[in-house]
Amino acid sequence: MGIKVGISACLLGQEVRYNGSHKRSRYLQDILSKYFDYAPICPEIGIGMGVPRKPIRLITTSGNNVEGIEAALSDDNSVRFTDQLKEYAQKQAHQLSDASGYIFMQKSPSCGYSRVKLYHENGNPLEVAQGIYAAELDRLLPLMPKEEAGRLSDAMIRENFITRVMAYHDWQYNVAYNLSPQALLDFHVRYKYLLMAHHIKTYQSLGQLLSNLKAKPLGEIAHEYIKAFMDALKHIANRKKNSNVLQHLQGYLKKHLEKDEKQEMQNLIHQYRTGLIPIVVPLTLLNHHIHKHTDDENYLRKQKYLNPHPYELGLRNAI
Ligand code: SF4
Repeated sequence: MGIKVGISACLLGQEVRYNGSHKRSRYLQDILSKYFDYAPICPEIGIGMGVPRKPIRLITTSGNNVEGIEAALSDDNSVRFTDQLKEYAQKQAHQLSDASGYIFMQKSPSCGYSRVKLYHENGNPLEVAQGIYAAELDRLLPLMPKEEAGRLSDAMIRENFITRVMAYHDWQYNVAYNLSPQALLDFHVRYKYLLMAHHIKTYQSLGQLLSNLKAKPLGEIAHEYIKAFMDALKHIANRKKNSNVLQHLQGYLKKHLEKDEKQEMQNLIHQYRTGLIPIVVPLTLLNHHIHKHTDDENYLRKQKYLNPHPYELGLRNAI
């Protein structure tokens, strides 16, 4: 079974947009579908709006207060869909409690996750907001990684999102559904260097949190842990932070590597840090040395940092 991921149905080619068209994404449909088990959802169809239908937009009835944002027909402010879209999100949140991510269609007043146009009731454009359905789903499932399809064309954002989905899936199936102190500690060990590459302060504070598992009920610690963990992963692991982690990992091998091998590794880390080569180059060599000099049970081999997502996706060739 693949990894369950919610997705705006129009991104998979379903002709559900207001004008009967779709917004098929070849990357999402042809490539990521090999790893993700999609749950396609169109909230506007879900609340009974047909195809074709009149377009809707976001309007605000109380300045910039989020509470006052409503979805209404573009040509008639008095016809609102806010409550139906929120209720539909509440229904879907139950169905999606085992999903590990969600990909939204951008700009939609229902599905847009970050940059949807918001209008004053008099029709003047004001700023941007979240779509009604997306905002409600975010409120109900705050840990689940979410991203807009349009932003996934950026290699860094794409790699970051897929890393988060894979890590959250690991958490759901190997920790949350069978919570134990050992499962929690093993997870932290696996993600030590990935966490360090994304947000070193969180890595340190979570180590502290797990240092006394008797301080609070385990469920409370786990909740605190995964919330901070998922927030930390939203920070992009840039060249500086990744180079630091590569140096740390190489440090474990220093007894095993010849002088020229160490120099070669150093050169590649430097070239990566200065933007000459992608991270896959120093990582491939590092992986090679780790597999040559350690056994299956070695601490380094357990590091998700070395392989956070399917290699075939080539996500690290582009960053
Ligand atoms: S963006 Fe959302 S509401 Fe609009 S057609 Fe796509 S799935 Fe339906």
